[in-house]
Amino acid sequence: MYALAERLYPICRSITGEGVRETLRILQEYAPISIHEVPTGTQVFDWEVPKEWNISQAWIKNSAGEKVVDFMDHSLHVLSYSIPIHKILPLSQLRDHLYSLPDQPDLIPYRTSYYQSNWGFCLSHRQLEALEDGDYEVCISSSLEAGSLTYAEYLLPGRSKDEFIFSTHVCHPSLANDNLSGVVMLIHLLRKLQHQDLRYSYRFLFVPGTIGSICWLAQNADKLATIKGGLIASLLGDGGKFHYKLSRHEDSIIDKVAQFVLTEMEVDHEVIPFSPYGYDERQYGSPGINLAVGSLTRSTFGSFPQYHTSADNLDFIQPRHLAQSYQLYSAVVDLLELNRTYVNLSPMGEPQLGRRGLYDAIGGASDQKAMQMAILWVLNMSDGTHDAIDVAHKSNLPSSLIVKVCALLLDKGLLRESD
Ligand code: ZN
Repeated sequence: MYALAERLYPICRSITGEGVRETLRILQEYAPISIHEVPTGTQVFDWEVPKEWNISQAWIKNSAGEKVVDFMDHSLHVLSYSIPIHKILPLSQLRDHLYSLPDQPDLIPYRTSYYQSNWGFCLSHRQLEALEDGDYEVCISSSLEAGSLTYAEYLLPGRSKDEFIFSTHVCHPSLANDNLSGVVMLIHLLRKLQHQDLRYSYRFLFVPGTIGSICWLAQNADKLATIKGGLIASLLGDGGKFHYKLSRHEDSIIDKVAQFVLTEMEVDHEVIPFSPYGYDERQYGSPGINLAVGSLTRSTFGSFPQYHTSADNLDFIQPRHLAQSYQLYSAVVDLLELNRTYVNLSPMGEPQLGRRGLYDAIGGASDQKAMQMAILWVLNMSDGTHDAIDVAHKSNLPSSLIVKVCALLLDKGLLRESD
């Protein structure tokens, strides 16, 4: 995952353009995602797919002809979606087009102007303060033309048409935690699940933020009914504790599973309520769409000093943090797959376990007590209203043991799966 992040990091991505396309093509080396193009001008709900933006170079030269800011040094140096420009102007006028962070004077900010025609450069405040009065030559070789918006998708079919979606934004340039961490984690999760026999279907979406998810939703309205929930994967490479932001539903199965996995894996975490702010959970959770999409991140949206600056770089994310995030997402899928609700077929008093050889089947002496308790809990709670997570939660026994016991009791004819 980290090696892929290193490879993708230098690419200048935006909500459209070759940077996103190149990124998605690289992801295709890992898993057979399909790339879709939505033409400029396409109406998608209340939005319209914008012109495609591409850039080859951008720089500022001082009066001595020296480049004082160069897009080649860092993709953050140019305001994303800058219109093309080539002119000479005094520093006093140039300043209106320069963006810096006075409180973080060594960092380059990330700025965009997708829906307003503008041009600009982002630079460290120290760079800005070092600029001497005089004339500067600015050049941005960009194009804003009819083209398309690019996103990628892959549907892993399960035995059921019911599906969960994993969505991540692919529109940020050289920023590592937000959101190469989400991109590289998801493509590896997809690669892993590809070889599994799955109960549910899982759809992976690699989309430009906001406009990309809106495009997908607008063009796939017929698919929404079978989507049972989903997660926004972002901010997964930093060392912060985990955060689960509840879906708009707040009590859907994905909310239940994500919270249970965080608790059971004993990772430091916090659960936060849904709000119509943040990443694409805003679109999936808009009232007309109303999908149960939560967001499972480490640090939260906008909450760390490196956020949307050049300090969100490859040093800020660590392989071990990515690995733990991957394990957590894997565990969410595993539990979604295994969690079931059962009905006890011998509910009048306790069934006689000895007669069914259940005491013989309960394994090594060390976990005999836990196994016996699990059998009793599963039998008692299997009234068609409690799933395996409820049993694990109530009994304080591992969900893996509960799942194992459910399979055993099913095999012994003491349970049936609830409708
Ligand atoms: Zn961002």
